[in-house]
Amino acid sequence: MTDLPESTSLLERYAAHAGADAVGQLRQLATRLQGLRVVHVNSTRQGGGVAEILEKLVPLMRELGLDAQWEVIEGSKEFFSCTKSFHNALQGRAIAVPEPLLCEYEEVNAANAERLRPLLEEADVVFIHDPQPAPLLRFCPHRRGKWVWRCHIDLSRPHRPVWRYLRQFINGYDASVFSLAEFAQPMPHLVFLIPPSIDPLSEKNLPLPSEEVRRVFRDFGIDHRRPTLLQVSRFDHFKDPVGVIRAYKLATAFVPSLQLILAGGRAADDPEGDLVLKEVLAAAGDDPDIHVLSASHYSDRVINALQTGADIVLQKSIREGFGLTVTEAMWKSKPVIGGNTGGIRLQLFNHRTGFLVDTPEGAAMRIRYLLFNRQRIEQIGHNARELVRRNFLITRQLREYLTLMVALIHGAGDRIELG
Ligand code: UDP
Repeated sequence: MTDLPESTSLLERYAAHAGADAVGQLRQLATRLQGLRVVHVNSTRQGGGVAEILEKLVPLMRELGLDAQWEVIEGSKEFFSCTKSFHNALQGRAIAVPEPLLCEYEEVNAANAERLRPLLEEADVVFIHDPQPAPLLRFCPHRRGKWVWRCHIDLSRPHRPVWRYLRQFINGYDASVFSLAEFAQPMPHLVFLIPPSIDPLSEKNLPLPSEEVRRVFRDFGIDHRRPTLLQVSRFDHFKDPVGVIRAYKLATAFVPSLQLILAGGRAADDPEGDLVLKEVLAAAGDDPDIHVLSASHYSDRVINALQTGADIVLQKSIREGFGLTVTEAMWKSKPVIGGNTGGIRLQLFNHRTGFLVDTPEGAAMRIRYLLFNRQRIEQIGHNARELVRRNFLITRQLREYLTLMVALIHGAGDRIELG
């Protein structure tokens, strides 16, 4: 399925994973958008989820016949320190951003507009990603096309003064896009919801040779023949790693050969993460079957191998955004036991695609059920992969961007029949 020749088009390579129907729908939608000049603007070419998505979306749009481009704004150290404060404030921290930093924010946008104005004013559709380039619209008074603000962050509880300041730049857009209903804010224009997605062609999600999976387990001193639970997460209270250890300990009463892996790369400057890691190590004690992997970084292939080799994946968060680790594990046909919160609820349906739990006891009960009913592991894993294939691959995200553009350009009254 994945051994397609190098010359195969990107769309065909996606069809091999997402299904020919998914790619057929993209082609149909794109017939209404041929030659459309689309510009995406964000603030970095590398690093972070937004850049990762654009790296794939833009070439796919081009292959579909749109004239898509990706531009990056350039800024000073002060500019990025300002937008970092925005990021934290929008996610709920009470931070006052000093006036000189706000001036720098607007000046950097004005300077970038000088460079980008001809392109942006001529474009049919402009997607501005996150707060960094949001003021560009104000500096493009003769724009012809539709402007969309694409918000990738959780705006459910923003620090009000910062949101009030930013909103003045965003109100003039034609539409906003949020990832989940609970992340959205009321806006004076159309609001669309487009959930995140994973890329089946990335190193994190490609099928791996079983020898590689076994080698990764061996390298960490984990026995791949014994039943294994896994949680991949930053060491953060909201991910409840101590609750995962409690669930594992309860489950070992029924399955003594059980092993647990808690994997999470550590940011160098994250004192909170260090504190949580200490609590995790204390809770793990001297149990040789709890493997806490906390190096500074694990490659995508290593994370992939751990997810592929585990029997059951846990994501026992008590607060969560979308929960991409859940999606990644489901794509690898794993039953996931996840916290009953945020986007995890969009992915796990009890007994069908996984289990939602509120407590470590609940998680332990589901672990026991699955390990004593091996055929359920397989069935639920199969359903889980299918749910992701239909709803949470990048092809679905692209389909929604195309639909949004058809709606904005041709009017929402225009009916689109997808064969
Ligand atoms: N991740 C990783 N290495 C780690 C921990 C996490 O690559 O050590 C990845 C994980 O595979 C997922 C993302 O980071 O793709 C975390 O996204 P998620 O939505 O689950 O949680 P967040 O950290 O954004 O709250």
